[in-house]
Amino acid sequence: MRSTVAGVTETMCGGGRGMRIRKLGIVGAGTMGSGIAALSVSAGIPVVLLDIPAEKGDRNAVARAGMDRAKKAKPAAFMDLARAAAVTLGNTEDDLQTLADCDLVIEAIIEQIAPKRALYEKLERLLPANTIIASNTSGIPMRDLLEGRSAGFRERFLGMHFFNPPRYLHLLEIIPTTETTADTLESAKRFSDRILGKGIVLAKDVPGFVANRLGVYGMVLAINLTEKYDLTIDEVDLLTGPILGRSKSATYRTADLSGIDVIGHVTTGLAQSTGEDFTLSAWVTALISAGRVGEKSGAGFYKKDGKEIATLDWKSGEYVPQTKANDPGAAKLAKLPTAARFAAIRDWKGKYGDFAREYLLRFSHYVLQTSPAIAYDIPAVDNAMEWGYAWDLGPFKQMDLLGADFLKAGFSSLGLKPPPLLGQAREGFYQRDGELRVLSLGGGANGGAALYEAVPIEPDVFSLARVRQATGRATDPKLAHSDDATVWSAGDVAVLEFHSKMNSLGKGVIEMVHRALDLVDKNGLAGLVIGNEDPRTFTAGADLMMIAGMVQAGDWKIVEHAVKAFQDTSMRLRTSPFPVVAAPFGLTLGGGCEFSLHADQVQAHAELYMGLVEVGVGLIPGGGGTKELLFRFTADLAPYAEADTFEAVKRAFGMIAMGTASTSALDARNLGYLRPSDRITMNRDRLLTDAIARVRDLATDYSAPLPRTTYALGKDALGNLKYGAWAMHEAGQISDFEVRLATELSYVLAGGDGPPRMVGEQDILDLEREAFLKLLGTKETQARIEHMLKTGKPLRN
Ligand code: NAD
Repeated sequence: MRSTVAGVTETMCGGGRGMRIRKLGIVGAGTMGSGIAALSVSAGIPVVLLDIPAEKGDRNAVARAGMDRAKKAKPAAFMDLARAAAVTLGNTEDDLQTLADCDLVIEAIIEQIAPKRALYEKLERLLPANTIIASNTSGIPMRDLLEGRSAGFRERFLGMHFFNPPRYLHLLEIIPTTETTADTLESAKRFSDRILGKGIVLAKDVPGFVANRLGVYGMVLAINLTEKYDLTIDEVDLLTGPILGRSKSATYRTADLSGIDVIGHVTTGLAQSTGEDFTLSAWVTALISAGRVGEKSGAGFYKKDGKEIATLDWKSGEYVPQTKANDPGAAKLAKLPTAARFAAIRDWKGKYGDFAREYLLRFSHYVLQTSPAIAYDIPAVDNAMEWGYAWDLGPFKQMDLLGADFLKAGFSSLGLKPPPLLGQAREGFYQRDGELRVLSLGGGANGGAALYEAVPIEPDVFSLARVRQATGRATDPKLAHSDDATVWSAGDVAVLEFHSKMNSLGKGVIEMVHRALDLVDKNGLAGLVIGNEDPRTFTAGADLMMIAGMVQAGDWKIVEHAVKAFQDTSMRLRTSPFPVVAAPFGLTLGGGCEFSLHADQVQAHAELYMGLVEVGVGLIPGGGGTKELLFRFTADLAPYAEADTFEAVKRAFGMIAMGTASTSALDARNLGYLRPSDRITMNRDRLLTDAIARVRDLATDYSAPLPRTTYALGKDALGNLKYGAWAMHEAGQISDFEVRLATELSYVLAGGDGPPRMVGEQDILDLEREAFLKLLGTKETQARIEHMLKTGKPLRN
């Protein structure tokens, strides 16, 4: 890590190992404090959460109210609501001493210097000398907060700036001061990265740090240009949203969510502390004065009227019906891949193009001017905006796409002096030939030549993005490749990456699974990881288009063969003579869940939406999923002599019939999609690395699991389940076809309609396949599949 701030380089690279954070204290149980508490207990770290005492009644009512809001938050703040029990509530008058056995105390109280300083003064008297103290301030420099504190306090103090909501936004800005010790910094980094799973950006101790300084500038700029180009709020949200690789909430909807009053405070604060112009237009301050501050007040830049959303006409102050921009250029741009889109913006004709160019140019100019003062390196700036503001591409990556010539000419046409950084970037900010290098923020500042440095990476992290760059070199890491999947080498472990559409599992992927397993076998590798780096989808499941095509062709022999091939593939994952570890994350549906269920171990990302959701398309899991839940849930009951096996059948039936998907990896574990032995990685960037480590762990003494048998209940269970379905039908809860679906599923889970008996895995797989094919032959299932392919939504019929 390079630094221009004296003293910080040594502090940041001091090599301290840091101490373990076993318990977290949080003061301030508002939006942020309660959100950080929910994340921490989700990660397994207990929390003491304090707020001011209530004047009467329950003294902890303020902290309790904050916790209650977190429990009801949407999207959910907790990964498992039961974890709320690990948050101990209290108040700052009666319970401050309960912070004394916390290893880290995060302050998340009101954004004002005086109360923060007053709190630190109390904490200084109370906390043991090794407790780390951090502020979650969104923009007040640490040096201002630390006035009056001792050297001992300063050494173990830093900024830890979470973004809202803490569970979902990957960014955590860590702001060490020149006095923060290496141990303090290392402890905070390890905890935030490994335990809480955050993406860390080290920021300089300046107002607004990195993300908010740039993000707020961008917001004020968009507002000012709304007036200059006489655009509507709808138009500006169109122009500053997905077209620029940002979320649909773009500028104004994001502001409504953050609170326009909060933006008012932040801009005033930034203007005062930086001396820069962050003036909001008069019509925006008028909204704040009128209390129309966004979603929390019911109206802001937008207003919800029942189901309708109206948009503020900023000239009249009235709310008017939303208008869709009718610009063929915008529609065309929206369809282009990112790189082509940025290139096309350079030549976009008309008012929209003029707006987009001026916005990008002025924003880029500000980034170039400001970055050396706020960040230690360029990737930190890009990561801050990608992780904190959910941009697809950070500003320097955008500038590389726009090109230096465009930027130079554009700055000159706007009368802006070209910032020195632009002159130094002779070959772009990132150099992509060979090892990825990036322009140093400190490089040419002293008049020297531009300096490119290696992009700071964690050497022990395995990343497909990085491995991909080595393709074609002498040590090409690509072991096998097709349009649908690639097998990569991670040294002694192979990694199978799907990259079909939505990573769906069709013939091509199945072939590559076998290819990967063959390669591991042939090359004597330790084992296989199945994983990828898609932002959202591990896999959407079996390729429905392929299934629909086969059904349409009407050759049922081929269909049966395909289903059997899927089952055999699942079973081969299970029975290979080396470990197979699945690394699912995000959407892991249908067949993707079935593959994971058959892996020796799952190393899941904490954000896991995993489910056997086949009922949505009128099917039951046919790739071994139905069999696997039956075997697992029955085995779970084995230690209890009195347990009724039917409970296991009911459990599997309920999950499959409801198409239950998990809301997190913890939830997947509660549901039974994950076993206690399956593991969870909090930090998505470390998922594949952890999965590879699991393969190596398992490989040392691996032998494949033995074939299993289970006790099938036969006709008794079948009768019971069928009765249940009939009762639901009579109550009008399910349709005739859903009774059929339930009956087919029951038949598989009961192991047929014979007497109770011991069965093997293949027996249940055969029943599963038969039921799957029967359902696939019904017009209702075919209608469900067609509807899903057309609309992306399930049909109930
Ligand atoms: P909030 O208003 O939702 O919550 C603040 C809480 O602190 C309240 O419950 C209040 O009762 C409590 N409090 C106030 N003074 C206190 C004191 N002296 N002792 C104990 N508790 C006290 O605010 P928030 O949005 O959670 O913000 C908290 C901090 O986090 C601020 O510094 C803010 O700038 C920062 N922050 C906010 C966001 C965001 O998006 N909301 C994001 C990052 C950082």
